[in-house]
Amino acid sequence: MRLDINSSILIFGGSGTIGSSTALHLARKGYRNIRVLDVYPIPSAQSAGNDLNKIMGTSLRNPVDRQLSLEAEDAWSNDPTFSPYYHRSGRLLDCCGSSDGINDLRDTVAKLEDAGLGHTVEWLDAEAQIIQRVPQLTGSNIQGWKGIFFERGGWLTAAKAIDSVGRELIQHGVQFSFGDSGTFQSLILSDDGKTCSGAVTKDGTRYLADRVVLASGAWTPSLVELEDQCCSKAWVYAHMQLTPEEVKEYIGCPVVYNEDIGFFFEPNEDGIIKVCDEFPGFTRYKMHQPFGASKPTLVSIPRSHARHPTDTYPNASEITIRKAIAAFLPNFKDKELFNRAMCWCADTADANLLVCEHPRWKGCFVATGDSGHSFKLLPIIGKHVVELLEGTLQEDLREAWRWRPGSGDARKSTRAALAKDLADLPGWKHDSVDTEKGDSDHGVP
Ligand code: FAD
Repeated sequence: MRLDINSSILIFGGSGTIGSSTALHLARKGYRNIRVLDVYPIPSAQSAGNDLNKIMGTSLRNPVDRQLSLEAEDAWSNDPTFSPYYHRSGRLLDCCGSSDGINDLRDTVAKLEDAGLGHTVEWLDAEAQIIQRVPQLTGSNIQGWKGIFFERGGWLTAAKAIDSVGRELIQHGVQFSFGDSGTFQSLILSDDGKTCSGAVTKDGTRYLADRVVLASGAWTPSLVELEDQCCSKAWVYAHMQLTPEEVKEYIGCPVVYNEDIGFFFEPNEDGIIKVCDEFPGFTRYKMHQPFGASKPTLVSIPRSHARHPTDTYPNASEITIRKAIAAFLPNFKDKELFNRAMCWCADTADANLLVCEHPRWKGCFVATGDSGHSFKLLPIIGKHVVELLEGTLQEDLREAWRWRPGSGDARKSTRAALAKDLADLPGWKHDSVDTEKGDSDHGVP
């Protein structure tokens, strides 16, 4: 059945990044029967996008990523729902001076030149040039470093931007179901099991619909059978509080990203700096049977920080975050850290999204596989999900985002090494009850 503006569409994960964007673009196109379903209200407390800030940069990995990030940059700059949340601070991408690191930087410059964007970057060959661009790095341990400075790009006030989408959704009259009545449980299938005509939520509500979209981020592989195409992994961050005097010094600081060490952002309006380290992520494997799987298998299942607020991150992360602070922000090396947290993403083997119809169930679509770099797409990714639903998705996007089991290892993805499992890493779990046993944590509010 072709879509028309009266078609009913369910969007699970609609309080998150890709789901809220999908609801927004459906609503802007005049669709009148859209329901956003999520464990949490928008912005979902467990969304990877529910964060102080995220980097906005041009991804040059492949033509699809480049097209999407240029579209996104334009929307962050010009769409009033998003533009208040874009801080064009510029961006420093640097390396510690290894030959691999320098080759990566040169490769990035070459790709930018090929894309006609060479004029938007400046090669920084030595510490002095880096400090000229980012004076806040004076006194940092950056001897031997090289870098590139991007005039374009900067950072996004992430959670506030999703909240802005939520406000526009309310104006459009989109319907919402949160909590148990928004938590995906199973699909409603035709007698022959080949067509999806809706979904059942945790409280038993049956929602009939013409299309079901699963944009449930890192939870998706535990909700429906994805044939190992996505592996859910956690990355970490910590916050530190600056004094008003310190804020003055760091305000306007470009985003500093070092692929060996991590990254940090200028302080937000409350004087808080977020610091992240760089590493291949953490998995959390459990025996589990997603909807549509014939038997339980090992699936990496997110453990929601919203549901487990005393969770922090492994002791190993404290060491690497402190290492990043010592390198970038040595004056703050003894500052107290707070809001230590893990946040969950879904890696695919090739780091491209998985946005396609589920081959087993006509009418059921997945929109996931963010691979840790998709927040910046918030303003525009939903436009392309709608094109998929309408059957007009550009051929190269369709090809990049197709159903592709067996085409690589999502556990490794494009990362430098395999992710370690949280079961082997002490320090992150602080609740008194052993919720690890018999695990029913995924997607539960
Ligand atoms: P989410 O935004 O997580 O949304 C998933 C939604 O599904 C949530 O709202 C959740 O509540 C809901 N859900 C879960 N289970 C159910 C269920 N059973 N029923 C209904 N709903 C359900 N990207 C960038 O572009 N720039 C960056 O600088 C950047 N930095 C990052 C730093 C860290 C530490 C992390 C972890 C990620 C970072 N990312 C960055 C990646 C970015 O956050 C993600 O790619 C993006 O937010 C993922 O969007 P999503 O819609 O797939 O998932």
